[in-house]
Amino acid sequence: MPDSLNTPNDLAPFWMPFTANRQFKSNPRLFVKAEGMHYTTSDNRQVLDGTAGLWCVNAGHAQPKIVEAIQQQAQELDYAPAFQMGHPKAFELAARLVAMIPGDLDHVFFTNSGSESVDTALKIALAYHRAKGDASRTRLIGRERGYHGVGFGGISVGGIVNNRRFFGSLLAGVDHMRHTHDPARNAFSRGQPEHGAELADDLERIVALHGAETIAAVIVEPMAGSTGVLMPPKGYLERLRAICDKYGILLIFDEVITGFGRLGSPFAVDHFGVMPDIVTTAKGVSNGAVPMGAVFVRKGIYDAFMNGPENAIELFHGYTYSAHPLACAAALATLDVYREQDLFQRCADLAPYFEDAVHSLKDLPHVIDVRNMGLVAGIELEARPGAPTARAFEAFLKCYDKGVLIRTTGDIIALSPPLIVDKAQIDTIVGTIADVLKDIA
Ligand code: PMP
Repeated sequence: MPDSLNTPNDLAPFWMPFTANRQFKSNPRLFVKAEGMHYTTSDNRQVLDGTAGLWCVNAGHAQPKIVEAIQQQAQELDYAPAFQMGHPKAFELAARLVAMIPGDLDHVFFTNSGSESVDTALKIALAYHRAKGDASRTRLIGRERGYHGVGFGGISVGGIVNNRRFFGSLLAGVDHMRHTHDPARNAFSRGQPEHGAELADDLERIVALHGAETIAAVIVEPMAGSTGVLMPPKGYLERLRAICDKYGILLIFDEVITGFGRLGSPFAVDHFGVMPDIVTTAKGVSNGAVPMGAVFVRKGIYDAFMNGPENAIELFHGYTYSAHPLACAAALATLDVYREQDLFQRCADLAPYFEDAVHSLKDLPHVIDVRNMGLVAGIELEARPGAPTARAFEAFLKCYDKGVLIRTTGDIIALSPPLIVDKAQIDTIVGTIADVLKDIA
C-alpha cells in the first residue's frame, strides 16, 4: 500500500460506491497512474485495461491532447455560472455534438453523469407533454434488467432488483417491459440475436392496460451494458419505435455506454438505424477525464418549449456544473482525438477479430453464453449453486492478479477495452480469461 495508507483502517473513511468495503479493506486494489491501455497499481504492477475504466476511457488513458486541454482550461476559465450565462466552449461543443448524431437530434442539454442525463431526459419528456397541453401523459416505461444510473428517476425505470429494493416506493406510475436476454434461444449469438423482436409488444400490453394517453416515454439501453451485455434482438428496436409512433409515446435511448464509438459507429442510433426522440450520453463524451453527460433532444421537443401553448420559455432544470468549462474543454479535445485517430472506424475494423477472440472461450468450463458487438462482449458463466456471482468475481480477482482488468456483473464477465486496443492486447485479455476459467474449474 502507498505510504499515506498504512493500515486497513486508513481505508475506512471513504464509503465506496457499489463496493463491499469490508472485503475491499482486506484486499485493496489501488491505481496510482494510467497511460494508454494500462493502469499502474500501488504495488507498481501494470494492469491492461479490458474495460476502458468503467466503459468511458474510449481514447485510452492520459491522452496527451485531452490532458493539455484540461490544463489550459483550468488556467484560462475555471468556472462560469451555468444559468443565464455561458462560455463559448459550451456552445461550440453543443454544435459539434449535434453535427455528429443523425437526424434532427439538434439540441443538447449538459449534465455531469449518466445518472443525471437519465433524470434530465425523463424530466424533459414529462415537461414536453405538459408544454404541449398533454398533461395526462405522466407514466414512464422502463425494462427489467435495465440500468439507468442511480438517481430516483433512473432506479425507478431501471430494472435491477438490488438497485431498487432498499429505497422505498420510488417514482409512481412506472411499468417495466421484459428484458431481451434469452439464452435458451440465442446463446452464442454474434451481434444481434435472431429471436425476441416480439418482446417489444410488451409495450402494447402496457398501453392496453393504462391507455396511451397516460404514457409519456419509454427508456431502453439500445444495447444493455451494465446489466450483463444484452443485445437487442433483430427487429426489436424497430418494433419499439413503431409502437411509440402509433401512440405518441417518446422513445429514449440510454446511450451512456454505446455513445461515442463503442459499437463501431458514433452512436447506437447509427448502428441500429432507429431514431429515438431523446438520447442520453456521458462517459465517452469526455473520455472519462472530467465528469460530463449530454442529453440530445429532437427539434420538435425543443420547439415545444420555445413555442408551446403555455409559452413556456424555460426548462426548470439544470446543474451548477452543467457545461463546466473543464468538461467542455476535455470533451472538445476528446472529439478531436476520436476524429484524428478515426477511433470509431478502428472499433468497427477490430470488431470481427474481437468477436472471434471472445467466442474462442465458448468451450471452456462453465461458459454458458458469449455475446458481442463492436468492442463489447459478455461472457456468461454458469452460476455456482448456492453462491451465484462467486465464480465471476473470482475470475475478476484472478485476472487482476495476472495483470488484466475485466468487469463482472452477476455471473457475467463484461469486456469493453479502450478503442485504441490492438490485436495482441485483445489476445492477452482473452487468453488471461481462458487461463483463469480453466483455473477456477
Ligand atoms: N445509463 C447507463 C446505460 C449506464 O451504463 C450508466 C453507467 N454505467 C448510467 C446510466 C449511469 O451513469 P453514471 O454512473 O455516470 O451516473
